[in-house]
Amino acid sequence: MTSASALHAALPKLCPCGGAPTAMKRKGAEAAFADCCGRYIVQEQLPPDALHLMRSRYTAFVLENEAYLLHTWQAAFRPSSLAFEAGAKWLGLEIKDFVQTGMKDGHETAEVEFVARVRVAGKANRLHERSRFVCEEGQWQYTTAVNMAS
Ligand SMILES: [Zn+2]
Repeated sequence: MTSASALHAALPKLCPCGGAPTAMKRKGAEAAFADCCGRYIVQEQLPPDALHLMRSRYTAFVLENEAYLLHTWQAAFRPSSLAFEAGAKWLGLEIKDFVQTGMKDGHETAEVEFVARVRVAGKANRLHERSRFVCEEGQWQYTTAVNMAS
């Protein structure tokens, strides 16, 4: 295990989250990092919804960008630091569901269900979670997740 406070990996050309507008995707195109999660991670734009935040957090995991992950974690649930699995190779993100879930304490809430695949030490793992998000002052933040793996 290793913890990272800075970007270890060089910035990728294509976005690790696999995001692309549907019209582009039909032609087999993939989104450039700069046009996808790079807008939030590097250019510090605010993700417009929980789905874009979820994608950018996956990408931040791939890039081992601890600062971004902590910054987008609601303070009440935020850990003091993160540990990244050494040698982990992230294989892709699949979004299963995205719903706005109403309001809580005057803030918009949403949930995103996803499957992320990662290989660690030659062993493939599948993370299937439903993550919860809240929007405070225009800024979507991750709160908690429910593990959906059976
Ligand atoms: Zn992306």
